[in-house]
Amino acid sequence: MVDGEPLTVSATLYLTYRRCPRQALARVRGIYPDDTVASFRGGLAHRVFARHLTAGPISDERFEQVCREEIGTGMNVTLSAVGLGRPSRLRRVIDEVGELYRRFRDRRFDGFVAAEVELEADAGSSVLLRGRIDAVFDEPVVRIVDWKTGRITVDAEEQLAFYGVLWAMARGSAPASVEAVSVATGERFAVDIDADRLTATVTEVAAMVDDLRAALVVGAEGRARAGPWCGYCPVLDRCDEGRSAAAVIGGT
Ligand code: SF4
Repeated sequence: MVDGEPLTVSATLYLTYRRCPRQALARVRGIYPDDTVASFRGGLAHRVFARHLTAGPISDERFEQVCREEIGTGMNVTLSAVGLGRPSRLRRVIDEVGELYRRFRDRRFDGFVAAEVELEADAGSSVLLRGRIDAVFDEPVVRIVDWKTGRITVDAEEQLAFYGVLWAMARGSAPASVEAVSVATGERFAVDIDADRLTATVTEVAAMVDDLRAALVVGAEGRARAGPWCGYCPVLDRCDEGRSAAAVIGGT
């Protein structure tokens, strides 16, 4: 990679870039999509899953209180931002998370080692790779798991490969596999982390870094690649390609 201003690369940035380089560039400039009720629900569900794994099962009687405790430790600002200040609306979300949790609770967790593992790796050239792994299993090979609260999306393979690279660089050896597990649907998608996959992902991430930095240096907007994701893009109102796509998709 060409050296440049410090840049933190997450799986989200990588996936965003694969969808649309312009939106990824906006993210690097600090322009993020708004939080939504769905992202709040997903965040709360992940906290509850981690609590189960580290502190044991949560009874139905205690579930609402546990959710409120988790919300109170860092989710209050988002709560208001997504319009869940009304007790009836919050209650509905807690019920939905409860439904997910009951499916999660029925799973087996043999070999579980750690939850919500924060990882960072210095990739050189002032680039920091960063991410959080939902769960780590060692049985006896290392397997890392990303819980999904909805369906597994088409770009799961690239996301999982990024986690494989991050783990390998932060811990010094690659995990045997990285998998996405949908708590909602029961789907499971696993990626084997071998040398070819690590090399391909590292090469793609490095090319992304160079492309983003080149655009930042000259103040460019970046290439737009419109698609269904435009509807959630924070720069939609100033992107002709995105507005055209949104009009077609929206049928206007
Ligand atoms: S509106 Fe669509 S095409 Fe435009 S920057 Fe956003 S994601 Fe890319």
